[in-house]
Amino acid sequence: MNNNFANFIALVKFFSVLMLIIIVVVTTRRLLDSLSSLDSPTSKWKGPIKHKCSDFPECVLCGRKLTIGIRDFCLNHPERFHGNLYCMEHQN
Ligand SMILES: [Zn+2]
Repeated sequence: MNNNFANFIALVKFFSVLMLIIIVVVTTRRLLDSLSSLDSPTSKWKGPIKHKCSDFPECVLCGRKLTIGIRDFCLNHPERFHGNLYCMEHQN
């Protein structure tokens, strides 16, 4: 009888801990969801900027990463570079 009662208490403790874990997991998930939903409008705003940054221009001869300034310089002189992008070294 006493052993059964101890088992019952252990079971109750186990389930209370389980419930606590579930509550913590659910609340943290909801918190993370609300945070991600808050992030999505800002990430939408950052979209065009991110696209510009990820669109790395490269030199067509050596594949070297070019700065936006060098890329614009090449694009602004199509008669010289024929619309291709060149690094400082290969512009001459
Ligand atoms: Zn180059």
